[in-house]
This record gives sequence, C-alpha cells and structure tokens, in this order.
Amino acid sequence: MTDIDFREFGIATQALRGGQRRTNEQEHSEPIFPTSSFTFQSAAEAAAKFSEQQPGNIYSRFSNPTVRAFQDRLAIMEGGEACVATASGMSAILTTCMALLNAGDHIVSSIGIFGTSVSLFGNHLGRFGVHTDFVPLTDYAAWEAAIRPETRLLFLETPSNPLTEIADIARLAELAHANDAVLVVDNCFCTPVLQRPLALGADIVIHSATKYLDGQGRCVGGAVIGNAEQVGKQVLGFLRAAGPSMSPFNAWVFLKGLETLALRMRAHCENALALATWLAEQPGVSRVHYPGLATHAQHELAARQQNGFGGIVSFEVEGGREAAWRVIDHTRVLSITANLGDARTTITHPASTTHGRNPPAQRAAAGITEGLIRLSVGLEDVADLCADLDRGLVAARSE
Ligand SMILES: *Cc1c(COP(=O)(O)O)cnc(C)c1O
Repeated sequence: MTDIDFREFGIATQALRGGQRRTNEQEHSEPIFPTSSFTFQSAAEAAAKFSEQQPGNIYSRFSNPTVRAFQDRLAIMEGGEACVATASGMSAILTTCMALLNAGDHIVSSIGIFGTSVSLFGNHLGRFGVHTDFVPLTDYAAWEAAIRPETRLLFLETPSNPLTEIADIARLAELAHANDAVLVVDNCFCTPVLQRPLALGADIVIHSATKYLDGQGRCVGGAVIGNAEQVGKQVLGFLRAAGPSMSPFNAWVFLKGLETLALRMRAHCENALALATWLAEQPGVSRVHYPGLATHAQHELAARQQNGFGGIVSFEVEGGREAAWRVIDHTRVLSITANLGDARTTITHPASTTHGRNPPAQRAAAGITEGLIRLSVGLEDVADLCADLDRGLVAARSE
C-alpha cells in the first residue's frame, strides 16, 4: 500500500486507504500505538534521529505512527503537502497563529466564525501584540479596507457559523497574496469531501476533527494542513515545542471516522436540503439559511465552489428568544447541544450559547438574532426530524 500515490484517487478512496502503512503483522485496520516514546538500536541512531539526519519516531508529542496515518490521510484528502494534528480545533488555530505570526502582526478575520475563535483572536492574541479586525464575511470592500501594512493573516469560515454565508475563497486568496498575507480557511463545515480550499488558492486549512471528521461525537481533535514549509516546518516546530498534540487513541478514532466521511457528507447534505425546504414552508418561520436553497444570497457561488451544500441549517422564528427556546424545548428526538457534525441531529440557540459570550453589538453585527436556531442535520429519517420540530413550531405559534 505504501507505494500507491492516493493523491490521484477519488476522495472516498483517499478517505479509506490514504496514509496507511501496514506493519509486519499485516493488520487490515490501522493499529493504535499507545506509547509515549520510541527506542533506538544505538546511541548513534538516537543522535541521528534527534538531529533529524535520519527520519523516525522519537517521542509522541510530535511523532506517533497512528497520528501520522491520520495526518497523511487528511493531507492527501485536502491536497496539501503537510498536515499537523492537534489536540483540538482551537489548538489548530492557536498553533497556526503562534507559528506564523510575530508581535505587531495583524489579522483580518470574518466576524461570522466559531464563537471561541472570535474570543481567541479578540481576547487572547491581543495580549501578545497580535491584533485582529473583524469584517463581514461577504463584504470584500471591508476586507480590503481592513488590511494594514502589518496584516499577515486573513481568516475565515465558509459556510459561516451559524448563518451559512459563503465567501469566494479564490477572491480572498488573491487579496491576501497581493498584501503578503496568508489565507487561512477553517474547513470544518464542508470537510474536504465538499470543499478543498487549497485548490482555490488558500494557504492553510484548519479542521476541528471533533465535528464531521469523527462524525459520531466521540473525541476532541484538530488539524492544520498546508505546504511543507509553513505547516511541515513552522507549525510542526511550534507543536513540538508547545505540545498541543493529538493522542494516538483519538487519531485512531478519527481514522475510523474518515472511512465513512464521503458517504456521511452526502447523506448530511440530502437530509439538510429536505429539512430546509420543509422549514421554509412553515408558518412562524421568518427565514431559513441554507446554501442549497435558491433563495440563499450566495446559492450560485456555493454551487460552484462546493461539491454539496453541507449539513448546517439555521432558521429564524417569529417571537425572539422566547419562541426559539420553546421550539428547542419541545423537541424530544433532537439533541440540545452546541456540538455539530454528529450523526445525530443537534439543535442550538446560538445567541445564548455558542455566541453568548460575544458582546451583543458584535453578535448583532454578525446577524445572530434572538430568534435564530441552528441545526446540525444528522442522519435520522427526515420525516422524524420534521415531526420533532413541528411540535415546537406549533407551540411557539400558539403563544
Ligand atoms: C468546533 C469548531 C472549532 C473548534 O474546535 P474544537 O475541536 O472544539 O476545539 C473551530 N471552528 C469551527 C468552525 C468549529 O465548529
């Protein structure tokens, strides 16, 4: 298997077979290597490996065969030269910033990103002299205006969380490169099955493996994918020094998750479109945000840039927070949790959970209203999901 270059294969084959190196035991499924360190045949071999004259395992903070299999597979799927696995999606973002930025550098980020990412940029990196300005995802004039001579990094998620707005990755990559900055795309919502940002010109892809890559809500993990210099050297160098590493066990769970990723993403897309279409017809629902609907502002861009419209649907109910909470509290099947990308459908009120810590003005600017509900549409039967939501929508209307 080691001599096959899976980069030329389809994404489902890559997800099943990429990155695997069988041991002499000829195991079919990838083994887990729960070992903190590795031994050497001699002092000379130890010295050669520590000085990087000879490749090989040293210590699992930065090299472990199970983690490497996950990294190699994801690098192949995203079309990147290198991948570094991290302890969480947030540590993937932090590690990227710590590796590529210096005090005094500046970030321009979309405002429509994961709430904790807003907090990382806004509340934490600033203390180390890295300042961030936030702009609306699809306002290209605002992106351009926010760029300063010291801007080194542009950051975005597309589709955005939770409103599913779509940014033109190629256009923002051009803007970044014209200003000597890198474009970092958090590809959590699409996964490489639905979107490959590197092929569109992005420099770095971020993953929260916690979401669709696992797909069954079991482990927390993350990854950074990009070229050999920025990711293979700089990001790995920071990880080696600072230690936000992925455990071999979690890497193994993610390897198992990747095996069904292509299949799951297609099913997530199908269910999400059916549910979004149904929601758009319900009284008391004032808006449905889903890129697969023709009414979505960037429907055509999504159709061009993505291989599917994704599994996240958000919608607004009339009656603000009270009505939104009533819909959520009347569900019996859906899981009330802020997690997403799970095989089970989850329902969230962003304004009071994922985005609750963001200042209200920032929240309003990002379009996170009190009546907004986010669904991560799972793999259940759609009729059961509609019936579960219908109970809450009827109750909200009757108040
Ligand atoms: C969850 C999430 C993250 C953070 O990932 P963790 O694994 O929870 O640290 C980052 N970006 C997006 C889009 C997410 O949904």
